Amino acid sequence: MMTPEHYEQSMQDLNLAVYMFGKRVSDLGSEPLLRPSRNAVAKTYEMAHRPEHQAVMTATSHLSGKQINRFTHIFQNTQDLVLKTRMGRLLGAHTGCCFQRCVGMDALNVLSIITHAIDQAKGTSYTERFNRFLAHVQENDLVCDGAMTDPKGDRSLAPHEQADPDLYLRVVEERRNGIVVRGAKAHQTGALNSHEVIVMPTATLREADREYAVSFAVPANTSGITYILGRQSCDTRRSENSPMDMGNLYFGGHEVLMVFDDVFVPWERVFMYKEFEYTGPLVEKFTAYHRQSYACKVGVGDVLIGATQTVAEYNGVAKASHVRDKIVEMNHLNESLFCATLACAYEGHAEPGGTYIVDSLLANVFKHNIAQFPYVLARIAQDIAGGLVVTLPSEADFRAPVTGPLMQKYYRGAASASTENRMRILRLIEAMTMGSLAVGYLTESLHGAGSPQAQRIMIARLVNMKEKQSFAKKLCGIQEDLPADYQP
Ligand code: SF4
Ligand code: FE
Repeated sequence: MMTPEHYEQSMQDLNLAVYMFGKRVSDLGSEPLLRPSRNAVAKTYEMAHRPEHQAVMTATSHLSGKQINRFTHIFQNTQDLVLKTRMGRLLGAHTGCCFQRCVGMDALNVLSIITHAIDQAKGTSYTERFNRFLAHVQENDLVCDGAMTDPKGDRSLAPHEQADPDLYLRVVEERRNGIVVRGAKAHQTGALNSHEVIVMPTATLREADREYAVSFAVPANTSGITYILGRQSCDTRRSENSPMDMGNLYFGGHEVLMVFDDVFVPWERVFMYKEFEYTGPLVEKFTAYHRQSYACKVGVGDVLIGATQTVAEYNGVAKASHVRDKIVEMNHLNESLFCATLACAYEGHAEPGGTYIVDSLLANVFKHNIAQFPYVLARIAQDIAGGLVVTLPSEADFRAPVTGPLMQKYYRGAASASTENRMRILRLIEAMTMGSLAVGYLTESLHGAGSPQAQRIMIARLVNMKEKQSFAKKLCGIQEDLPADYQP
């Protein structure tokens, strides 16, 4: 397994084509806006080397029998799924943000299922290819970006009906030794910290969209791939050289638009090619896995609850009964989320190829709550923090000779806390509930792994309504049977 230092070096060597504020970024490793996100991924390496976390952070490869980072593992049993949830909470709590490595893990697992399914039905040899790629990822302990979301253009039109056919990623040329693809993937979490990019189709596709039914992996620095960094609220605070104003001094996330401008992919790296019938199962299983992954938000919730209790003490209100009750509510909601992500893991099952997958209905219910509860936690945190969370002057003012003493005097809270510590915890709450970290804790909770309506559609599809109605009808003496093709 790689060390954090080795990981840093391996990313420097890639020299990705990244653009930010209109210019190419020459050195990603020393760019202050990106440093916190690189630190967060490095943490996934560091924690795997700590003896006290190895049971959660590492696994035994079913291919090589060697110890590997759990982020590169194919789930072999229910316990693997449970440990995935625990890993998400652990890392969320240690970073307070998105640590970016889950999408690739979920992509690897879904491809292990789908390549097997296509091979069984069509006699292809995708599993062999995929396992060679997986062995490379496990052996070298690589970060994979899972690239699913296309820009999508006009949402009412199918991919081939779009005015610009590139709005969904597609195959534009077939060659003897591989394929050429064109298009883009949006909202790519952690792409600039990834060694490999795993591309998957974004939706269930029909025959007319066969060119779009493609899945493959390419090194992140492959010629023709361009990255454009997405802005985050308060992002430039990272380059102000006043760490206190960042709230979280060490960690953060990033998202990019990733453009594929006629990128060549050798056959060896292609895992689905025009088998459009398998796009639906791929998307459904991937989203189930990735919805479970939002266990990360439970760990981030732990940080926000800890920050809220701390600011309550610093403000001198920790003993007020309504404040205590609000913090109980935060814990109740956060632990309810944990219950649901654990439940979908414990109710998991083996797919025909042997890979374990979570219970899809429960994973969707969990993610649907993730789209709501963090907003309630954030509201309570702001409520208890008070208005200072948005009116506090800068660290530079705090350090300056005229304004510093005035801030020391007038921003003092309870005698037990220093003004500086009170400012630090307020800045952390600001960052997590409306600043750069709110991307990961709030908006990503809402839209990441699918917006709330996507989960409602899945919940409607997956519940056994017929069975529920038959329970009710039996109890009150209704004799009629529902027709076999009944849909509520
Ligand atoms: Fe992982 Fe959570 Fe970030 Fe998604 S949002 S990549 S699940 S840490
Ligand atoms: Fe995500």
